[in-house]
Amino acid sequence: MEGERKPSLNFIEQLIEGDLKSGKHKSIHTRFPPEPNGYLHIGHAKSIVLNFGLAEKYKGKCNLRFDDTNPEKEDTEYVDSIKRDIQWMGYDWEEREFYASDYFDTLYDYAIRLIKKGKAYVDDLSQEEFNAIKGTPTEPGKESPFRGRSVEENLQLLEEMKAGKYKNGEKVLRAKIDMSSPNMHMRDPILYRIKHTPHHRTGDAWCIYPTYDFAHGQSDSIENITHSLCTLEFEVHRPLYEWLIQELEIFPSKQTEFARLNLSYTVVSKRKLLELVQEKHVAGWDDPRMPTISGIRRRGFTPESIKNFIHKVGVARRDGITDVALLEHAVREDLNKKTNRFFGILNPLKVVITNWPEDKEEILTGVNNPEDESAGTREMKFGREIYIDRGDFLEDPPSPKKWYRLGPDREVRLKYAYIIKCTGYDKNDQGEVTTLYAEYDPETRSGQDTSGKKVKGTLGWVSAKYGIGAEIRLYDRLFQTENLNDIDDDFKNHLNPDSLAINREAILEEALKSAKVGDLVQFERVGYFRVDEDSTPGNLVFNRTITLRDNWAKSQGG
Ligand code: ATP
Ligand code: MG
Repeated sequence: MEGERKPSLNFIEQLIEGDLKSGKHKSIHTRFPPEPNGYLHIGHAKSIVLNFGLAEKYKGKCNLRFDDTNPEKEDTEYVDSIKRDIQWMGYDWEEREFYASDYFDTLYDYAIRLIKKGKAYVDDLSQEEFNAIKGTPTEPGKESPFRGRSVEENLQLLEEMKAGKYKNGEKVLRAKIDMSSPNMHMRDPILYRIKHTPHHRTGDAWCIYPTYDFAHGQSDSIENITHSLCTLEFEVHRPLYEWLIQELEIFPSKQTEFARLNLSYTVVSKRKLLELVQEKHVAGWDDPRMPTISGIRRRGFTPESIKNFIHKVGVARRDGITDVALLEHAVREDLNKKTNRFFGILNPLKVVITNWPEDKEEILTGVNNPEDESAGTREMKFGREIYIDRGDFLEDPPSPKKWYRLGPDREVRLKYAYIIKCTGYDKNDQGEVTTLYAEYDPETRSGQDTSGKKVKGTLGWVSAKYGIGAEIRLYDRLFQTENLNDIDDDFKNHLNPDSLAINREAILEEALKSAKVGDLVQFERVGYFRVDEDSTPGNLVFNRTITLRDNWAKSQGG
């Protein structure tokens, strides 16, 4: 045990504490800026936990801002799902729900301001023509022949672009910076492009749209964001971010970059996840195999487990790939504390207890959660016929030292019940064992055992009379390949064909009859499960969240 040690600050926390101490900011203001072009995934969770978490920690504010400047790909379905996911994570943007599109008028005024300062111009070169003069990182570019246009001409052309006089791609507005800068993003980057596409919020009001670089930083500034946190790929955009703020003389938001989250056996790219949905490799964005927040929620992951995982990963400035087993470990750790235990037998094998009277029933008591006494106990009916798992019986088992479970003439304890001894079994024509016969020892009732007997094996069981059927969806990893950033072929070639198996044989303890959608439970010795939205009265559907076996803890010597 390490005891209570104050965790050291990550580099962003150090930066913030420095800014607060020096009086640069009285309080901090962050934002989470999703583009509504897909559902959020586990990578976004890192950004959410960082932005909202820092605001919480330093008693500042975090805005939700939709970065909605690409009308072709964006949709209100995505806006709604993003809000739902952030709320589920337990964060609140209060009344601060903003959209870059709310700022289109202001951004247009900013463009005019730049033109008037001689810092922006309308360019007629096509994309290809500009690329041809742009140069390379080691070779300076040439200036566009339209770079010298007068302020008046530029103002008029921008006005005409806005009024719809030109076709897509015919003209763009560029910042006038430096065609020989070693940073390609400073070589007269595009600020506005023409897109005759209606927008999910502004409708037909605009046919020119600001680029990411012109919308994102300026939106930060409009919202007085003190710390604009983004992933490392935007580091090269930072000089442009600062140039625009400086030339426009607006609130000096500061951009700081951190490493994105990459996970083994997982893709975290909205574009690829969209492909899986559109090509029906999964049932939808919220398929429990998907690394989307809505997928892992449906699978049974909890907000606390995701937050714990993100904290374990930490914040750094170096890209890497995180073992998905660490996420799975965090889920087990949380569910172990929270879930009630039940018996759920996935591959049932009937046992007839021959010395138990036909009509006799006893009520036994099961402990709901050994990790949490307040979870209480439950009643279980015990009778002459029960089910155990097929995997708990062998016709010809190894020595009792190696095999604690059932075999001919072997004894085991049925948890919360009695010790039984296997006295015989039936087989069908295919040689499968169909029924076991056993005798129980009346002196061995759990909690009241006077027999002095010691057996090593304890099995789960379900009453044959009262057990209920259910559909159990057993999930495995969606991909078979560990590092999906490191492949040359189509990522879909790496899908795991066995990522879903459906079990309709299972028999569950009677107490689960009243389970409701969203409930999280543990089937003893089997795994954690969540009751799925597809459940109907009388037909419960359980998603296996995760098995009990923890490879992460094992690899750490736990
Ligand atoms: P994708 O690559 O999946 O399309 P994106 O970066 O385009 O993601 P945005 O909606 O623009 O998606 O992201 C919103 C915020 O989440 C951004 O600040 C982005 O940097 C951050 N983010 C996205 N993916 C990750 C990730 N894997 N790890 C950490 N932060 C991420
Ligand atoms: Mg993006």
